[in-house]
Amino acid sequence: MRIDGRVNSFYSLSYGKSWPKPEREQAAKNGHAKKNGAQNSDTPNAKNSQSTNAAETQKGGIYVTPIQTTKAQEGTIQRAMDELSKVEFSANDILYMKNLGVNLPFKNGNEAVKYLNSKNIDVMYAEFSNQNVHACLDTSESTPAVLINSNYKDLASFPDILAISEAMLHEAGHAKDEDSDNSIQEEIDCLALNVLAHQYYKKTYPDIFKDQNSPLFFEGVSLYDTLFFDFDPEKKALKQRVSEKYGFLNVSSKNHIGSNLAQEIKNMS
Ligand SMILES: [Zn+2]
Repeated sequence: MRIDGRVNSFYSLSYGKSWPKPEREQAAKNGHAKKNGAQNSDTPNAKNSQSTNAAETQKGGIYVTPIQTTKAQEGTIQRAMDELSKVEFSANDILYMKNLGVNLPFKNGNEAVKYLNSKNIDVMYAEFSNQNVHACLDTSESTPAVLINSNYKDLASFPDILAISEAMLHEAGHAKDEDSDNSIQEEIDCLALNVLAHQYYKKTYPDIFKDQNSPLFFEGVSLYDTLFFDFDPEKKALKQRVSEKYGFLNVSSKNHIGSNLAQEIKNMS
């Protein structure tokens, strides 16, 4: 079973991406590994502790502790995966995103599901030290894992399942470049995936998200849908939000060459 670790995620409800290994070891050292039966008894390199810690605090990394899942929870994850595999992006939406400066990691939901399966990337629930993070990608082991906040482990209504599938899609986007690097452009590209899945769900299941007011929706899937499709041609609110959450990252990373949008967001932070 996967052991605890620290992965990089961000300050508010957001979707993160993992940190390199040393910081994960530091997390284990800090005692978070104990909950799951102390699988990690390695002694971390104490010499690096201080500086690693400082970097983590600065960039908002979190501790993660994967939990044992029940059959019902596995069923939820499977249903989310099944829904995701049906998602199509509309040609107009793809063009719209392209014009904004987005480079979509996948052409549709099925491509993302196939990618996760082909790489044996598991989806599981984990306790996060930051309750405001929806999901993150843990790349601290050779096979990454998509981790969903365990606060959501018993959410199993149909809208919840769709929202969880959007989080999976976002993390699959991060997984695709097969590194643990992240950038403003990469976040934009992955957030756009959520939004296009959200658009598909809204069209396919009218009013499905209408009365959803948990943070998973109003600070996550529904929020970014509104911000990307804001009538403001300048997309000021989108830039502001992404700048607050991800402005500390570099503009570009591998396979995510910074667009003007990413550069403008960086300039704001
Ligand atoms: Zn992300």
